[in-house]
Amino acid sequence: MTEQFPRNEIEFDSRFSSEQACFDYLFQLRWPEGFCCSRCGHIKYWMTSRGLYLCRQCKHQQSVTAGTIFHGTRKPIRLWFKALWWFSTSKNSVNASALKDLLGLGSYQTAWCWLQKLRTCTVFNDRSKLSGNIEVDEFYLGGECSGQRGRGAEHKCKVAVAVERQGRKLGRLRLQVIECCSAEELTSFVKANIDLGSQIITDGWSGYSGLRNEGFLHETVIQSKIKDKKSVLPGVHLVTSLFKRVILGTFQGRFDPQYLQRYLDEYVFRFNRRTCRSIGKRFWRIMQQAAVSDPITWRGLMIAPTS
Ligand SMILES: [Zn+2]
Repeated sequence: MTEQFPRNEIEFDSRFSSEQACFDYLFQLRWPEGFCCSRCGHIKYWMTSRGLYLCRQCKHQQSVTAGTIFHGTRKPIRLWFKALWWFSTSKNSVNASALKDLLGLGSYQTAWCWLQKLRTCTVFNDRSKLSGNIEVDEFYLGGECSGQRGRGAEHKCKVAVAVERQGRKLGRLRLQVIECCSAEELTSFVKANIDLGSQIITDGWSGYSGLRNEGFLHETVIQSKIKDKKSVLPGVHLVTSLFKRVILGTFQGRFDPQYLQRYLDEYVFRFNRRTCRSIGKRFWRIMQQAAVSDPITWRGLMIAPTS
């Protein structure tokens, strides 16, 4: 049996050197138990001369890419595989302009669209909530002044952040765009992302005062003139500055607030796998998701994600 994923770029290039090799890999991920007709559930098929799977029972024809994010693509699937390889294995992401050049794609728009689609594959439905000791805070992006929750923050993008603290090390991360820093929004962020009974560490902001009543343990650290955020919430401080660095570096400080959640999702994917020894495993995880994700139309991409 072949490995689930290539371990490095050399293995990747030799393994996915033809369209058929890519289709075979997608087949394995999409139908790990064998073919299953998307219309009637029948398991036997004929292969057509055009490489389509023809259900022997209902005669429905389908390609291995139909109903996935690759649906209807006119580009060779090898290009998608290469895009996904760079996207999943690069340390600090890849921007549309670089992807366009790397793959020789005709337009910036195509590269941008591919990256947006790949970003939607970085969130997994089966991911478990954070647990243990967790720092929670918010940070701001964009805008000129560095004002905190009050005045001046109206035009900035607000992001809620939660990161597990394991002694001096950090565990897993969650980031989510929020409308405002109200108790209602922050509490629902915490409930959606953190296991009940976890110990939550925040600053003294009133938006967190109801966490105890919701079934969490809550520790407040008071930020003073002597103690800055770096010393009271070191985990939050670190991930916030790392994320801002990616936005500044890879994306030259430019991001469209409408799509910020997708960039956050991508960052969380990378962060939570930073210690993963095999870069190929990251490729495999996103490809797995891509093979079963619903297709996204251009119009669908334009609508901002909600979580
Ligand atoms: Zn069928």
